[in-house]
Order: sequence, then structure tokens, then C-alpha cells
Amino acid sequence: MQQFAITSPQGARGVHEREGCEMTQRYAGLNISNDKVSHPGVGMFLLSGPPDAVNMSLGLSLAARGSNLLACGPTVHQACGENMYIKGYCFLLDQSLRQLQRIPDTLAECPRHATDIVLLIDGSGSIKLVDFEKMKKFLSEIMKRFRSTDTQFALMQYSHSFRDHFDFAQYRRSRDPDSLLKSVWQLRGATHTASAIQKVVQELFTSGRGARDEATKILIVITDGEKSGDPLSYSDAVPEAQRAGIICYAIGVSHGCVEN
Ligand SMILES: [Mg+2]
Repeated sequence: MQQFAITSPQGARGVHEREGCEMTQRYAGLNISNDKVSHPGVGMFLLSGPPDAVNMSLGLSLAARGSNLLACGPTVHQACGENMYIKGYCFLLDQSLRQLQRIPDTLAECPRHATDIVLLIDGSGSIKLVDFEKMKKFLSEIMKRFRSTDTQFALMQYSHSFRDHFDFAQYRRSRDPDSLLKSVWQLRGATHTASAIQKVVQELFTSGRGARDEATKILIVITDGEKSGDPLSYSDAVPEAQRAGIICYAIGVSHGCVEN
């Protein structure tokens, strides 16, 4: 069980005791050892903390209304797969520091729904080789972080031509980023970003390529933003992606900027 010591009237000071775990911390002149707080003239009250709170502290945010006190702690860590989310709790206390309410009652569950992500990378001549290699490293890190979740990836590179490095079906067969990325070499040439987006929508987000109807569809475009020689405009391609329910993100590389 975790317990939190709240001191008054100088404000809430949070602390934390995990069963069998000796902990001592000092906050603003208060000595706190397990569930004991020593400070002259300061009252103390214990709260049963939420079971999913880890290393939680209170008192970084306090508000009073009438005789009630709201003590909040933003440091509840929640592990979802390999990602760590920083969330928080607030406790509404009465004038005797009794807990009236915990907000929220419980933390939201980790996202479990299926997600299909197309990574669309700019391999045109305006991207320096060193930046292209950084892109590949970035892709590898993204894929590794989502490996334990229900997420599928597909990768297309574009310049004035287009290369599908792997689709969702191929990703399902081999989820090893290093193996999937080892044969990705920079295409070089012009920068047909809008045409590439349209191609992804029409050809990669399809069941034949392993995309799932129930999945959230995400397109991440990584480019220096300098579209060139493209017969298609963003106003043609982006609405088509939106109509297909695809959420689009753009990530800028090098010194360029993303137009849309
Ligand atoms: Mg370019």
C-alpha cells in the first residue's frame, strides 16, 4: 500500500511508502521518513494513495475553496509498453484533511487499439546523406518503441520516383527494424511530396497491403519541406488523405520548413 502524508497549514508535502521499502526525502525543510513528518506546529494526515501511483508527490499545486483544499501531484508515472506517460492526481480534502474525492478516480487505461502508421520519407537530392542516415535511425527508434503495442508500420521513400520498402503485411512477417531498414538507400532527385502522399493513401492504406479497417491510420511525412517538380499540389493530396480518415503529421529535417 502507498501512503501520502499531507502537512498543514504550510502546504501539502507528498510522500510515498511502498511496502517493505525504506524511503526518506526532504522537502522544503520538512523531514519525511516513511509515513512520519517532523516539523514544529505542522499537522499531518495520511491518505491511501492510488495503487497505480508510482513515485508520486503532492503539493506542487494547491488551491483552497471555502474550508476545502485541493492538493495535486503531477508525477504519477504510467508505463504503457515501452512508453512512460506522466499523469497526475488531485485530492479534495476537508478542513480536517480527510479525503473527500480523488480526481480522476482511476487513471485511463493504456491505449490498446490497433494503429497503422505509414512512414513516408523524403529521399530527394536536397536531403544530405548525413540527414538521410539520421532519418533511418529515427525510423528504427520509432519502430522499436512501438514493438510491444498493436501497431503496424509501412515505409515508402520518395523523390520524383517512389519506392515501397515494406508494407504492413511485410512488417507483420518481420518486425525487426534493422532488418527492414538495411536495404534502404537514398533515391535522390526531385521532391514530389504531394504525389507521394496520394500514392500512400491509394496504394499503402489498403487491405491488400495489410492495412486493417479497424485501425487508426496515421501518416508521418519526414521531409525538408522543399517540394519541387511535383505535378500535384498539397491541396489535391491532403484532403484525399483526410477523407480516408488518415491523420497526417509532418516532421522537418535539415534546415528546410514544411509548407503544409
Ligand atoms: Mg528535396
